[in-house]
Amino acid sequence: MPRAQRARIGRRTANATRMYNRRQQNNTPERSHTLAQEQRNALTLQIGRMIILCPKCHAKKWKDETHGLCCADGKVVLHQFEDLPDLIKSLIDNSHPLSKHFFDNSRRYNTLFQMTSFGANEIPEGNFMPSFKIQGQVHHLIGSLLPEIGNNAKFLQIYFMSKSDQISIRTNMIPNLKRGLIESLQTVLSENDHLIQRFRSNLELRSFDELQNFELIIHADRVPQDEHRGQYNAPTIDEVAVLLVKEDKVPRDIVLHGRSGHLNQVSELNRSFDALQYPLMYTRGEDGYHINI
Ligand SMILES: [Zn+2]
Repeated sequence: MPRAQRARIGRRTANATRMYNRRQQNNTPERSHTLAQEQRNALTLQIGRMIILCPKCHAKKWKDETHGLCCADGKVVLHQFEDLPDLIKSLIDNSHPLSKHFFDNSRRYNTLFQMTSFGANEIPEGNFMPSFKIQGQVHHLIGSLLPEIGNNAKFLQIYFMSKSDQISIRTNMIPNLKRGLIESLQTVLSENDHLIQRFRSNLELRSFDELQNFELIIHADRVPQDEHRGQYNAPTIDEVAVLLVKEDKVPRDIVLHGRSGHLNQVSELNRSFDALQYPLMYTRGEDGYHINI
């Protein structure tokens, strides 16, 4: 081998040895231990225990949370939740034989009954997409009360089919859920959810032709703003604001068409948003968060 070529190989070997030695130095057990300790210290934040009790609303807080954080110093008074229907209560307090199964699958069960769909700008990444990527703001959509002729019922529309059709559709939506439990939950919502009951009674009152141009509006501010929500503890069917067409609408109102192919955006600031999105938590169609809370 020519001398110049041997010299180049020699330099490469010397460089490789120096780099190997440097890596070994960086990976000594002492240094690894120190780095791991530094990382742990950087990630650990001691916030103490949650033992500060607000004298006004009795919320538990951590010591560094501000005085008015929970209830604005007593200005916000939340109404008490009504007792849950017996079935949901037993599933949650672990006294039902299927409690563990329900806890493991609670989001899936809620998905079977949610009345709104999820919307976002999806970022396509070719044919195979193991991850779902979205861009911008997430929003929720609601369709008409009834599907267009020839289309399958989805989300809210499923509630207005026959009981057996509802069970079949929901059982086939997500595998490995219990048909009997789906049927029982469906009965609970049918008997307790004021929003569903009010939608159904409005549909039953109208002819096929009337439904083409029919609109229901879930008014964003059905409780006068100067009245406190605490006075409206038990939502009765009359408190569920389903108003007819021709009403003035505000941007936070939710508009439901009788039968159309349109999807309308649902404002998360409408007091019924939570009940539409999480029916197994708001089993009576009661109010969730809203800006006049
Ligand atoms: Zn408080």
